[in-house]
Amino acid sequence: MIAGVIAVQGDVSEHAAAIRRAAAAHDADCEVREIRTSGIVPDCDVLLMPGGESTTISRLLADEGIDDEIRAHVEAGNPILATCAGLIVAARDAKDDRVSTLGLLDVTVDRNAFGRQKDSFEAPLDIEGLDEPFPAVFIRAPLIDTVGDDVEVLADWEGNPVGVRQGPVVASSFHPELTPDTRLHQLAFFDETEAVVPTEVDG
Ligand code: GLN
Repeated sequence: MIAGVIAVQGDVSEHAAAIRRAAAAHDADCEVREIRTSGIVPDCDVLLMPGGESTTISRLLADEGIDDEIRAHVEAGNPILATCAGLIVAARDAKDDRVSTLGLLDVTVDRNAFGRQKDSFEAPLDIEGLDEPFPAVFIRAPLIDTVGDDVEVLADWEGNPVGVRQGPVVASSFHPELTPDTRLHQLAFFDETEAVVPTEVDG
């Protein structure tokens, strides 16, 4: 499997490590490619769009012509996991002219809504498809305020969706890549019924 991590900005190395661990849990070979220019996405089987700063990420994706490649990847039915700023970029609308959203997911988001109130926090979260609660790290997290009919809500926090799936797109307000638990990566890219709690952390 070739996993492309969108690497124009954000917590790239954490996602690279997480997809390697998730693949190892499934005995799958995984080559990670960091994507800073166009021409790499078409070779990737799966994509990861990290947390960071959505204004910067969306601008650089457009400047480099990577935005259209990501849309084509999803239109062809290939998976992507988008976290925090990645979720904002993947949304239909972020209600902020500084973010050019890709419209991969029929949701609207409110940037920084969680963060301004609560800054950063970690909470155990029930996620559809996972047996045990997930340690969810929220950092200046976006609030998903509307979801379209085709969007499945995988997790709620205080009445708001924080994990969603629409076809090949899985997205979260929180940062699964910042914990040793790779179950959300497994759920996005492998059969979720086989998701396992990791027993050791190797980076
Ligand atoms: N609030 C940030 C943004 O708007 C996202 C924060 C994050 O990815 N941790 O891009």
